[in-house]
Amino acid sequence: MAGSPDFDLYRPSEEHDMLRDTVRALAEAKIAPYAAEVDENARFPREALDALVAADLQAVHVPEEFGGAGADALATVIVIEEVARVCASSSLIPAVNKLGSLPVILSGSEDLKKKYLAPLAKGEAMFSYCLSEPDAGSDAAGMKTRAVRDGDFWVLNGVKRWITNAGESEYYTVMAVTDPEKRSKGISAFVVEKSDEGVSFGAPEKKLGIKGSPTREVYLDNVRIPADRMIGAEGTGFATAMKTLDHTRITIAAQALGIAQGALDYAKGYVQERKQFGKPIGDFQGVQFMLADMAMKLEAARQLTYAAAAKSERVDADLTFFGAAAKCYASDAAMEITLDAIQLLGGYGYTRDYPVERMMRDAKITQLYEGTNQIQRIVMARNLPK
Ligand SMILES: Cc1cc2nc3c(=O)[nH]c(=O)nc-3n(C[C@H](O)[C@H](O)[C@H](O)COP(=O)(O)OP(=O)(O)OC[C@H]3O[C@@H](n4cnc5c(N)ncnc54)[C@H](O)[C@@H]3O)c2cc1C
Repeated sequence: MAGSPDFDLYRPSEEHDMLRDTVRALAEAKIAPYAAEVDENARFPREALDALVAADLQAVHVPEEFGGAGADALATVIVIEEVARVCASSSLIPAVNKLGSLPVILSGSEDLKKKYLAPLAKGEAMFSYCLSEPDAGSDAAGMKTRAVRDGDFWVLNGVKRWITNAGESEYYTVMAVTDPEKRSKGISAFVVEKSDEGVSFGAPEKKLGIKGSPTREVYLDNVRIPADRMIGAEGTGFATAMKTLDHTRITIAAQALGIAQGALDYAKGYVQERKQFGKPIGDFQGVQFMLADMAMKLEAARQLTYAAAAKSERVDADLTFFGAAAKCYASDAAMEITLDAIQLLGGYGYTRDYPVERMMRDAKITQLYEGTNQIQRIVMARNLPK
């Protein structure tokens, strides 16, 4: 599964294509049948987790030396894309496993990597990422969660908000203030376990979309953890958190691509079946032009996302721009494409009897999390290509 790090900038290899075929077949057989009901009942997609774990696809990014598949960034994108094509909520399993664990992979000690990556690779544990707080979203460095040193331990207190897969994950990368004087340079990252005393969760948020992916607050109430659970050096947590997002915004772009592809595929089939004025609506040029625009935007978003994935793999100097651009462009495209899919289904598209309204609701989140698209534009403006 591992591709060569110097794969062609825009074109997936034969191995990547095979991986896509495998994930598509699995997603259609074992994840798609539950997608509508998972959304309707806002329940965790257990069947998807089981199917992904059985096929070793729940966290393909984990390096081989820690028991993982060692998939490159493009392979990870393909997994997320294909799962999101049928169920966006389920695609947050591989996506957030990467988001939560990447700080450990990028900055953690060998011991931390050994301890926490192996259970993730085996499918015994999931990993969440705790940056946001009730009063610190776009301005994440304004966080208040505090970590205070006490001998060989750190004691954490605070509230993390909007945490994806909270309660389901065993492990949490938590960013906390260790030196309030230094703002972003006074933030450190830690691994917190669900079973640590003092960890608890809020009620699941009632959301517009990705209803199968639990989003909850994480409460840290005098959580006392060994000092070796710090990820990297003291004061480097915010830099690690931002470096992580450079890579993982590409997985949100992948999610957007998958959602948009699912909507386009459905609309394409529908217009061939639905007849008005004595012929399939797909025979009308007005409908054909809409499909052409949808496919054009999707393909442009895909090329940018795959280019960004190649840059992530190589850790190119312009990764920050490309990660933000891919996430921003693909999520805006997914919003437009899913809205157009509803338009092509007419009144039927507006009902829950058809999947495109779910896809439109799911697409919206990709414009918001891992930094809103206004924040992506700020990031791009600060890192314009030379
Ligand atoms: C379903 C869901 C899952 C999430 N999962 C996670 C997770 O797993 N881990 C995690 O840490 N976080 C997570 N988040 C949090 C997410 O990243 C934040 O919601 C997001 O960064 C925005 O922060 P906010 O909601 O506080 O909005 P705010 O920061 O209050 O922004 C409100 C509005 O103001 C705009 N704005 C703010 N500052 C500026 C500026 N300087 N210039 C222009 N516009 C600006 C924003 O773009 C937005 O439109 C999740 C959120 C949701 C909804």
